[in-house]
Amino acid sequence: MTERTTIVDLPQTAASCPPPPKGCGAPAGSLCTLHGGTRPHTTNTHRARTDAWAVQTATCTRAGCEAAPGHPCRDSDGQPMTGKAHTPRKRAALRAAHLEGEAR
Ligand SMILES: [Zn+2]
Ligand SMILES: [Zn+2]
Repeated sequence: MTERTTIVDLPQTAASCPPPPKGCGAPAGSLCTLHGGTRPHTTNTHRARTDAWAVQTATCTRAGCEAAPGHPCRDSDGQPMTGKAHTPRKRAALRAAHLEGEAR
């Protein structure tokens, strides 16, 4: 089995990972680590990192939220969602990143 670099499929590594316990605190451009930093996480990142990255880069596409890049999503009560993003926003961010990757 050949080892593949999967970082290309993890555009959210452009953002830093939130500190524990939600994430591992990995700096931007580095892979997430598991088990207290002893093992790099090559196939995925902490969910909190994807959320943070989506908030930074994408506009939320969820009706009634539609938060602009850099602004947190808001829940149904209009309260900002800290450390979380709506799923459609994450999908939009991932889709945009993959389109960019294909255009190169
Ligand atoms: Zn992490
Ligand atoms: Zn949202």
